[in-house]
Amino acid sequence: MTERADLRSLYQEELVSWVAGLNEPPYRGRQLARWVHGRGARSFEGMTDLPASLRRRLAEVARLATLRVVRRTTSADGSTTKYLLACEDGSTVESVWMRYADGRRSACVSTQVGCGMGCTFCATGLSGLGRNLAAGEITDQVHVMQHDQGERVTHVVFMGMGEPLANLEATVRAVRLLNAPYGLGVGIRRITVSTVGLVPQIRRLAQLRLGCTLAVSLHAPDDELRSRLVPINRRYPISSLLEACREYAAVTGRRVTFEYVLLEGVNDTPDHARRLAERLHGLLAHLNLIPWNPVPSLPYRRPGPERVRQFARIVRAQGVPVTVRVERGVDILAACGQLREAHTPGRKPVQLAPRLVPAAAP
Ligand code: SAH
Ligand code: SF4
Repeated sequence: MTERADLRSLYQEELVSWVAGLNEPPYRGRQLARWVHGRGARSFEGMTDLPASLRRRLAEVARLATLRVVRRTTSADGSTTKYLLACEDGSTVESVWMRYADGRRSACVSTQVGCGMGCTFCATGLSGLGRNLAAGEITDQVHVMQHDQGERVTHVVFMGMGEPLANLEATVRAVRLLNAPYGLGVGIRRITVSTVGLVPQIRRLAQLRLGCTLAVSLHAPDDELRSRLVPINRRYPISSLLEACREYAAVTGRRVTFEYVLLEGVNDTPDHARRLAERLHGLLAHLNLIPWNPVPSLPYRRPGPERVRQFARIVRAQGVPVTVRVERGVDILAACGQLREAHTPGRKPVQLAPRLVPAAAP
C-alpha cells in the first residue's frame, strides 16, 4: 500500500492538482486548502461543505498531520503557555504561546524532534536529533495552540526545538503556508526564522526572497569562544556567517536579528560586549540579548539584571540597536527543550564530558 499523502504539508496549488487525481474540480482543492491551512481542521469528517462521499474517500487515501496536546503549562502571570505536543508517531515537540500587553500573540514552533547541533547551553541539544518535522507538523503546532487558546496568532517565531535551516524545505514550506491568504495570513515580516548559523542555507534563504525575518544565534564575539558554545562554528566561522548575513540584508533589505544568550562569566563581560559591537558595526543588524534560562543539568549561570544592562549599554553606545528579551516563563521551564526533557520518563541526568564544561565558568 502506498503511503497516504499528508495534505497539511501541501500548498493550495498542489491540493488542486492532487484532487484532480480523484477527478475533483479545482475548487475542491481550494476548499480543502481553506479547511486545512485556514481553519486548521482536525479531520476530513468535519469538512461540512464537502460531499460525504468525498470526505470518506479522503479519509481512505489521505491524512492530515495532526498534533495533540500532551501537556500544557501556563506561567504564573498567565502570559505564556508552553505545550508538549505529540505527533502521530508519538514523537513529542514543544511549542509556546505568548500573549503581550500590546495585543500581539506569538507562537513559537519547533522544526525538528530534538536537534543535532549540540550547543552546550541548550536543553534540546542534549537529546540529539530524532527526526525532521514535516511542514504540516510545523504549521499544525500553530493550529493546535490557536484552537486551545481560542485566539488567532499575530506572529510566528521558529525558535522551538531543532534547527530550522537543517530542515530547510519543510521550514520554507511552513513559512509560506502560514503566510498564505488561504492559510493563516500571518504577515511575512511577522514570521521569524532563527538559525544556529548554517551559512549555505542562509544564502539559499536569501535567494528564495522569502522576506521573513532572519534571526542568527551568535552568542560570542570570537571563534575560539563560539566554537566552544556552538560546535557548528568550526565549520562556519563568524566571518563567513556575518558575510552571509550581510548578503541576506542586502538582498532582502531586512535587518538581521542577532541573538546572544548571556552566560555569566562566559560571554557577558564588558570586553565581550565591546568586541561584539565591533563585529556588528556597519551591519544592518539588531541585537537581542537573552539572559540564559537555567537548565538544571548544565554548568552555566544566568547573569543578573545589572550585568545584562551594562552589556546592552556598551553595545548600544557603538550604534547597534539592542533589546533585552523579556523574561517569560522561566517558572515553566521555558528554555528550549526543557519541558520535553522533564517529561521523558526515565531520562537519566546528563553527565557532561569535560570538554563541554566552559573553561571560563568558575
Ligand atoms: N536552532 C535555532 C532555533 C531554536 S533555539 C537556533 O539555535 O537559533 C532559539 C534560541 O534559543 C537560540 O538563540 C538559542 O541559542 C536559544 N536558547 C537555547 N537554549 C537556551 C536557554 N537555555 N536559555 C536561553 N536561550 C536559549
Ligand atoms: Fe539546536 Fe538551536 Fe539548541 Fe543549538 S540552540 S542545540 S541549534 S535548538
